[in-house]
Amino acid sequence: MNDPPLAAAAVDQVWDMLAQHVRPAERITVAPHDSLGRVLACDARAAFEFPPFDRAMMDGYAVRCDDFAGGETLLTNVGLARAGFEAPADISAGQCLQINTGAPMPPGADAVVMVEKTETADDGRIRLSDAPRRGQHFEKRGGIVAKDDLLVRASTRIGAGAVAAVIAGGLDHLSVFKTPRVGVLSTGDEIIAGGAGRAGAQIYDSNSVMLAELVRSSHGEPIQLGRCGDDRDGLRAVIEKGLACDVLCVTGGMSKGSHDLVPGLAEELGVKWLVRSLHMKPGKPMHIGRAPGGCWMLGLPGNPVSCAVCFLLFARAILDGLQGLAVRKPAHLRATLAADMPANGSRPLYQPGEWHVAQDGTVVVSPMNWRGSGDPFGMATANALVCRPADAPAAPAGDSVRIIPLDVPR
Ligand code: AMP
Ligand code: MG
Repeated sequence: MNDPPLAAAAVDQVWDMLAQHVRPAERITVAPHDSLGRVLACDARAAFEFPPFDRAMMDGYAVRCDDFAGGETLLTNVGLARAGFEAPADISAGQCLQINTGAPMPPGADAVVMVEKTETADDGRIRLSDAPRRGQHFEKRGGIVAKDDLLVRASTRIGAGAVAAVIAGGLDHLSVFKTPRVGVLSTGDEIIAGGAGRAGAQIYDSNSVMLAELVRSSHGEPIQLGRCGDDRDGLRAVIEKGLACDVLCVTGGMSKGSHDLVPGLAEELGVKWLVRSLHMKPGKPMHIGRAPGGCWMLGLPGNPVSCAVCFLLFARAILDGLQGLAVRKPAHLRATLAADMPANGSRPLYQPGEWHVAQDGTVVVSPMNWRGSGDPFGMATANALVCRPADAPAAPAGDSVRIIPLDVPR
């Protein structure tokens, strides 16, 4: 952490620097049903073999293959094996047992013949038309996983499939990383709560609600610290309180105006900046630093599009790292432009866009009409960022561009 702050950092350097410095938070133990959305700290291994008994995979009859020497055969049914109960009888030569999917196989049986391939003969015996293959239509005990087999690798975010796997595998607790607590603070004398009866030069606070949702969608816990005007004492107190979180996101007051007080106050509180400005558009005033207690502080621009873009590119990477995932540059896709884009300026551009998958399977992106700094509507329906390198020439519709997908369109 002794590196000097990056002067107008290149975005790629920021991810490299974060990958070096961000370390996972504490591990905690949770029950599987409390693990969704968290990241596994250790490999999850099967507590027992699966299936735990020889298990029928079809509705039909459990049989002995030796009884099929001549193809079709007639067997005497000796009962019914149901899911959830031990098989009621063994079978021996000339016998079969009616069996339902999921029921334990009776001792002596070595195949299941599906009910569609059988009929009841006049004498009550079961006529089976096809000779089965040994092992057909049932799973051997332990045939899917052995005890201690790997079910879900460490550093996996637990979703629906993973939680199902650990429950099926008999795990009653999991080691996961603690959810980072993320303070969200909006600053600026003009900022008031949304819907609070705006007057004169006031602006509704759209950033704090947006940031809280971005924190939630990054699997962090948002802690609303409210709004604070551009006043030294009030700001200092609330920043100090926010630095007790794992991450603090402050929006507004990060630039070079006479009342942009946040960077100086954070420094007074011991924050060391690793990034003081970024060579990108939007988001130039972005700051990233670390407080003595370990809190990561993100100074996000007040302009709502810059605020969202900086969060998505960098705060999300920090939250990933704290949760035990690799810290890295967001994944890119290639997409076909649906509209012309002008030549880019000297800073790499991350412009909100909307992507979808066309009928032929191609990824198509429409850059959103974003009306510059201060446009609070620019992210309204964005589900991607369109990335253009510094000094990229004009790109006509049909050109291929890189995008960072934010959501999967349906
Ligand atoms: P600043 O970064 O403080 O210079 O603010 C840049 C622009 O973003 C100004 O026009 C602010 O009014 C606007 N802004 C700052 N904070 C917010 C916020 N919480 N919600 C909406 N707009 C904001
Ligand atoms: Mg301001």
